[in-house]
Amino acid sequence: MSDPIPVRVRPEIAALPVYRQGRQAGADAFKLSSNENPFDPLPGVIDAMHQAVSVNRYPDATATRLRERLAARFGVTIDEVHIAAGSVSILSQLMLSVAGPGDQIVYPWRSFEAYPNLVTVTGADRVEVPLTSDGRHDLSAMAASVTDRTQAVVVCSPNNPTGPVVTQSEFDAFLDAVPSDVLVILDEAYAEFVTAPDAVDGLRELGVVRPNVVALRTFSKAYGLAGLRIGYAVGHRRVLDAARATAIPLSVTAQAENAALASLDAEDELRERVRQIAVRRDRIADGLREAGWQVPDAQGNFVWLATGVDSAEAAEAFEAAGIIVRAFPGDGLRVSIGEEESVETVLRIAASVVQHLPEGHPARRIA
Ligand code: PMP
Repeated sequence: MSDPIPVRVRPEIAALPVYRQGRQAGADAFKLSSNENPFDPLPGVIDAMHQAVSVNRYPDATATRLRERLAARFGVTIDEVHIAAGSVSILSQLMLSVAGPGDQIVYPWRSFEAYPNLVTVTGADRVEVPLTSDGRHDLSAMAASVTDRTQAVVVCSPNNPTGPVVTQSEFDAFLDAVPSDVLVILDEAYAEFVTAPDAVDGLRELGVVRPNVVALRTFSKAYGLAGLRIGYAVGHRRVLDAARATAIPLSVTAQAENAALASLDAEDELRERVRQIAVRRDRIADGLREAGWQVPDAQGNFVWLATGVDSAEAAEAFEAAGIIVRAFPGDGLRVSIGEEESVETVLRIAASVVQHLPEGHPARRIA
């Protein structure tokens, strides 16, 4: 390699791809590459951030006020709620707390791009279970891949980047099939956008009935606080204690905690925005299907186009029209639901791209 690492890095870490963020958009482009919320922060949020604190002081290490608020909301104790700097931090903490070299962590693939790296950082082996052809979890295959080395399984509903949910009955059957001492991380980063009535709801089950399940939620997506980095987990107190033990202390800022509390105060506005994004998503998915795309059920704030080997070229066509999408080379494109003003261009470019895909391409609807 032309640029060797000057110190002895763990070889499996040196081999990891460095996390690459969705492309930044120019002033005249729409950034639909990171599943962000196109709305400004909810009312009261900016004020609440500014009210926060003397920045010469450390924040409250366990975000007690926010934990109290969420605990009351979900009918659990405050020890059954854990707050961290984004739900991705909690994923990392949970994995580190259960797995190390020689262990395995099972997750669906393709799914959230952070999973493979987070598993490798623990030293455990990755066990990737392919999605079904319609972008859903293959939960029987996931359950079947659990061995006595498996320390955790990740379930992502709705699945990023493909969109479908895991249903409640599928999830229940899956839990029945997995040993009850294996941690099941239910990643529900996009739960608020779900409109499917049969979708799993991790906060309905909670850690009480199934103590091995931890549900992860975030303020980044529906609440529009991605830049402040704040997410939470609900689960069994002792499981969350283990996660807390691996956490980098004091990473949740008082500004983020205040903003999250103010966002919870603005529930009606939140619901209205989430509703608008879900309606826009359904309109885009329907428009794409009409144009000839095969679109998996979209339940998050994004849609998936399985462009396969044509992904890079398709992403360029969107980019040339001022739409920045996330390309997963060889696999597909994820297009976030953004500003209303972006919708027409997304549909126009998509209609042209699908025409250039060969007959029989998996992204094309069978006529
Ligand atoms: N889980 C999934 C499935 C995601 O897509 C994301 C963000 N892209 C996260 C977790 C992490 O979100 P955050 O750290 O901002 O809470």
